[in-house]
Amino acid sequence: MFKRVIIKGLARSGANAAMRRINRHGITVLMYHGVMEDEFGAADEDWLQVRASEFRSQMRYLREHFHVVPLERVRETPSGGKPRAVLTFDDGYANNFRVAYPILREFGFPATVFLVTGAVGSRQLFWFDRLQLALKGRVVPDELKRIKEQFKANTHPHEIDAAVDAFLRKTYGPGAIPERVVEAYRPLSRDEIGEMAASGLVRFGSHTHRHEILTRLSPAEAEQTLAQSLGVLKALPGCGGYFCFPNGDWSPEHVRLCQRLGFEGALLTRPGVWRAGVEAFGIPRFGIGRGMDTAAFAATVSGILPGIQRALRR
Ligand SMILES: [Zn+2]
Repeated sequence: MFKRVIIKGLARSGANAAMRRINRHGITVLMYHGVMEDEFGAADEDWLQVRASEFRSQMRYLREHFHVVPLERVRETPSGGKPRAVLTFDDGYANNFRVAYPILREFGFPATVFLVTGAVGSRQLFWFDRLQLALKGRVVPDELKRIKEQFKANTHPHEIDAAVDAFLRKTYGPGAIPERVVEAYRPLSRDEIGEMAASGLVRFGSHTHRHEILTRLSPAEAEQTLAQSLGVLKALPGCGGYFCFPNGDWSPEHVRLCQRLGFEGALLTRPGVWRAGVEAFGIPRFGIGRGMDTAAFAATVSGILPGIQRALRR
């Protein structure tokens, strides 16, 4: 409720527009994950899956207030006039192809998709989606969050798939995920990547090989997942050369590793406007999730709402 009042106030006062002017030489990078058909009826708390209708109105807002440019060519695209914005999608959901891509084409907006390269072509859903799909409606959202965080903190990234399956079997018994749900949440296939790459509109980056949180790996394991991922990426069409940290977790040694392997830059989950050309290995992004209406979107991409939320948490 309090948040709604702030969001409305920001739009009415012209604060969003003023902030965009202040940041006009910076780059507003947006972080999406999946975009799902409205009719699919995903749970409201499925933050990663933005509704197609929400996504479309957000693109309309961007067209009006920003100049949407490709991440890979940001430096060649001068600022001036409207501030620049970049679209990114993490994890490489097939619904990026099925739902988001037709909308991107309609608007002529470029985007970068960060692939979990080991998941390309697989029909196994990501562990966090399996967990959320199995537990939705059975536990309150805070409890679901707590269970997810526990797996992230206590289970080695390479054990997590088996551990989640064992947990679900033990707690809820065996049960296959319906085909319709697999289709909705599965990762991209090579053909889908190829078709998007051929359009010239979509480029691909690395999000590790198995979505490992790098700070939970040994240095040798971190190097292996990055190198393996880069190898797969280079063999795919539309390789863009950027890396994106799973869970936004990193350390200076991981930045040095990315540089040594030849990545062009790396993206975080921390909100903020990217000062172009600065911190290419620590690019901040504004996270966009399900249930964000246009007023909340406007207050987020102006940078004001994340700032207020940060201040309130202090
Ligand atoms: Zn991710």
